Amino acid sequence: MSNKRFENQVAVVTGAGRGIGEAIAKRLAAEGAKIAVVSRTEANSAKVAEAINALAPDTAKPYAVDVADFDAVQKAGDQILADFGRCDILVNNAGITRDTLAMRMSSEDWDLVLQTNLKGAFNFTRAVLRAMVKQRSGRIINISSVSGLMGLAGQANYAASKAGLIGMTKSIAREIASRGITVNVVAPGFIETDMTSVLNEEVRKGALAQIPVSRFGAVDDIASAVAFLSSAEAGYISGQVLAVDGGMSM
Ligand code: NDP
Repeated sequence: MSNKRFENQVAVVTGAGRGIGEAIAKRLAAEGAKIAVVSRTEANSAKVAEAINALAPDTAKPYAVDVADFDAVQKAGDQILADFGRCDILVNNAGITRDTLAMRMSSEDWDLVLQTNLKGAFNFTRAVLRAMVKQRSGRIINISSVSGLMGLAGQANYAASKAGLIGMTKSIAREIASRGITVNVVAPGFIETDMTSVLNEEVRKGALAQIPVSRFGAVDDIASAVAFLSSAEAGYISGQVLAVDGGMSM
């Protein structure tokens, strides 16, 4: 028997041009899935698709789309379904931060973060859900954050978007549980990527002090959790939040 858990499956990974999404896309590809590599910037999705295809030819295709744009996402979803013929796994990973204290937060920064992180996940779910329902199988994994579980100062917009993902996940999980589709959340803690590299030494020290396992996470820590929830073994798990945060939110 093959040890590739995702052979003959198609995975859509948003925000796969860098960081956590790139690691998830590469992990699912290494385990046999064909990958729609979605990011905002064409050069980033193209680079990751190329790297995947260098190891396994004709495995990945890049798509450049703003997840916050409902119409553009429906079109991208149709294109992905036309290109690959099906969608077995959707990982809503694209996300941004615009951190500042609520007192100073602009209306634009509130809207941009909510529209990208929360509505973006709805938009892509909407684009592929009908295909999953027809197949009577599917896995949707939404990438939230420890911030959505605990709140973090300076992240009212981001925490709201990430907490919102949890409610959305549970609602959709209930709607489609009987169709063989599971919907779950992975909530990363502090993971070393571009998003966190901008934080100053003081903030990093403060964060490290709150992590029981005493290290920042690696992108592969998240990819492993997503691969598990995407697999057949996780078929009896739905509507759950898996915190992958070194114990930070316990
Ligand atoms: P990065 O900033 O490293 O990468 C973000 C990815 O999302 C990029 O590929 C980017 O596209 C894509 N993206 C951003 N906005 C859009 C958009 N509007 N449309 C399409 N794609 C978009 O982030 P991380 O890898 O660190 O984070 C990934 C996810 O994990 C996010 O949802 C984040 O909130 C979450 N998370 C991260 C944590 C961390 O510590 N790093 C902790 C908890 C949660 P492009 O490359 O084209 O610019």
